[in-house]
Amino acid sequence: MFYSKLIDVYERLAATTKGLEKTEITDEFLVKARNEPEIVYLLQGKFFPDYDERESGVSEQLVIKAIAKAVAAGADEVVREFKKTGDLGKSAEILIGKKRQAVLFGKKLTTQKFLESLRKLPGLNGKGTVERKVSIIVELLTSGSPVEAKYIIRTLLGDLKVGIGSGILRDAIVECCFEPKDLDEKRKYGEIVQSAYDKTADFAEVFSRALSGLKNLESVDLSPGRPVKVMLYPKAKDIKEAFEIVGKPAAFEYKYDGFRMMINKDENGKISIFTRRLDNVSKQFPDAVAYARENVKAESFIIDCEAVGYNPLEKKYLPFESVSQRIKRKYDIEKMEKELPIELNVFDIIYFNGRSLLNEFFLERRKILEKIVKTAAWKIKLAQQIVTDSDAAAEKFYSQALRDGQEGLMAKNLNAIYKPGARVGYGVKIKPDPNEFDLVIVGAEYGTGKRAGWLTSYDVSCRDKDGNLMEVGKVSTGLKEKPEEGLSFVEMTNELKKIIVSEDGKHVNVKPKIVVSIGYQNIQKSPSYSSGYALRFPRVARLRPDRSVSDIVTIDEIRKEAEK
Ligand code: AMP
Repeated sequence: MFYSKLIDVYERLAATTKGLEKTEITDEFLVKARNEPEIVYLLQGKFFPDYDERESGVSEQLVIKAIAKAVAAGADEVVREFKKTGDLGKSAEILIGKKRQAVLFGKKLTTQKFLESLRKLPGLNGKGTVERKVSIIVELLTSGSPVEAKYIIRTLLGDLKVGIGSGILRDAIVECCFEPKDLDEKRKYGEIVQSAYDKTADFAEVFSRALSGLKNLESVDLSPGRPVKVMLYPKAKDIKEAFEIVGKPAAFEYKYDGFRMMINKDENGKISIFTRRLDNVSKQFPDAVAYARENVKAESFIIDCEAVGYNPLEKKYLPFESVSQRIKRKYDIEKMEKELPIELNVFDIIYFNGRSLLNEFFLERRKILEKIVKTAAWKIKLAQQIVTDSDAAAEKFYSQALRDGQEGLMAKNLNAIYKPGARVGYGVKIKPDPNEFDLVIVGAEYGTGKRAGWLTSYDVSCRDKDGNLMEVGKVSTGLKEKPEEGLSFVEMTNELKKIIVSEDGKHVNVKPKIVVSIGYQNIQKSPSYSSGYALRFPRVARLRPDRSVSDIVTIDEIRKEAEK
């Protein structure tokens, strides 16, 4: 397909904010894209499936170079234009439009060729990388029209600005492949498509299976080595409410304060570890790989665990922040492993010796875990658990968990299956309410005075069910001026600078990538923010490098909390 066809869709999508219209536009397009299922990646401005973490690794500076070269201008001219528009895509469109005659147009760009070129980028490294990346981008720019250039650049920088979340893509796949007759059918097919996506984290695979029929879509299964979305747990306010949601008797487990790891062992014995945002962290955690290899007795498996850091000298658990440094670490791995060891607390299993356990009840899954996990102190163990129908016994266990320094309890329905990606009430979390939401940073502002040069105020957003982001406030407290005291302005500024998409005076917009836990005192209705709510006295509690934008709190959850 010619890339220009996709551009028409982008422009139409960008022109409406209505979900239904977006779904219709996408559906219409998918009908024409039946032979090219991978085009769904491009629809969302991506070029690999969601489980694949490879990125273009293209910075603004590199894009500026490439645009300058493509239009035979100086970088300063591009920068001037960028300052006016605040959007490099738009700048490329304008500059290429102006210089059109001067540029030699090549063959008309196809989506296939675009994908191929994009996919070359992550593999480039070493000497001459910048030049090679620039030349790939120049080739793309010179074979596209001005408006194509806009979207080429936006795709490269990971900010398409057309607003097509996974909810819309899912609904469009339903319309395109199953043409539901009424709302019930729509919901039914919607759930099947969603569930296939949650198992594969790959919309192209889901689309192509859906095209070949319902049976093929429903037969999607887990495959160790390919990450799946984890099951999530809503909140219960106390033990009583937990019982109401998960039924009696229920399993209660310690809620450990670490981060989630899905540990996979495939049929060849290869172990891979994924975070809940599907990042592969096997290299960062050789200790966890070893525990899984030595202490989990099965040919193949996918186990769900919480990795908790501890102080190796005092043998005391540490809060999430300290061990979170290990998640992104690329060097000194062995040193980190010694200084910040982790203990695996295994709480679920969804694949065992070649067989998916998604449809087995939790009770059975736990029994399998009990058989195959060999406990080793401070290395790996099963989540501490009791099964009870007594409020008093559960309360006692709750106090014990808090006394032991854990976050609270999980309560689990013994007769529930495992639903990847879903926040169904098959399990709930109960913790003393610290008033915290996970939100994503979408913008920031430079400070003044001695804080000049640092980005010190952050615009934070929640999301709706379709993945559209809505702001809930600005946060500027909780960070330290001195790096040795904890999460600092310098660290945050460095992280944010890597993902700036546009600048306007002291304000910058950033790609929605950095998830932060934000503490607050209460929630107010507010016309100042697009969500209609504002957090009062917000404060950055911690970075959440293990979480992605799909994990942040939804507007519905905020509304529910505000109405309490
Ligand atoms: P929250 O992060 O507040 O949404 O709480 C849910 C998270 O608690 C899960 O995603 C896990 O990472 C973590 N967790 C800790 N202990 C357990 C457990 N025993 N069962 C399930 N999840 C747990």
